Amino acid sequence: MEEKSELSTMHPDVETILFSEEDIAQIVQRLGAEITRDYQGKDLVLIAVLRGAVVFMGDLMRAIDLPLAIDFMAVSSYGSNAKSSGIVRIVKDLDMDIKGRDVLIVEDILDSGLTLKYLMKNLSSRKPASLEVAAFLWKDVEGKQAAIDPKYVGAHCPDEFVVGYGLDFAERYRNLSYVGILKPEVYS
Ligand code: 5GP
Ligand code: MG
Ligand code: MG
Repeated sequence: MEEKSELSTMHPDVETILFSEEDIAQIVQRLGAEITRDYQGKDLVLIAVLRGAVVFMGDLMRAIDLPLAIDFMAVSSYGSNAKSSGIVRIVKDLDMDIKGRDVLIVEDILDSGLTLKYLMKNLSSRKPASLEVAAFLWKDVEGKQAAIDPKYVGAHCPDEFVVGYGLDFAERYRNLSYVGILKPEVYS
């Protein structure tokens, strides 16, 4: 008998599931089709920001039916983990030269957008042919303005701290197959 683990159903620390494994698969297929359509004949490079975006990257790249390259960057944001300061240090740079190429930044979640704004400024100085963002989730709630405008958005997300599908709390829960909200007692 096949039994589903807590990674794909309900982890005891999770209070609410916002996006199920099935929701996510649909979102990724839709984004992959849009990107496949838009990047015909281009020299596509996907760049994921470690570590949160690795799960989305792994799924998205397989939903894009085009020749493409991938690369990774790691940045560390000063300040607390839950809140972005916009001051970013590059911890791991690209291995690839992106000059003249069509770069698509693959991000797990866009909140203030300050991290990405900094990254885009840095990457655009390397003269890519184009530079766009695919964000799996976007916390574009009322009264909150992100510093950048992503071309591709998987889903809109309430202004809550979410985990799973690559997103962590204190480096845990990245391996959940869904996106959810933790029980309040987990944070304290
Ligand atoms: P921003 O610079 O857009 O405010 O923050 C973006 C980064 O903060 C994301 O790439 C992610 O690493 C982290 N982040 C923002 N919101 C959340 C959240 O709800 N959950 C988790 N786990 N990380 C988040
Ligand atoms: Mg991130
Ligand atoms: Mg994190």
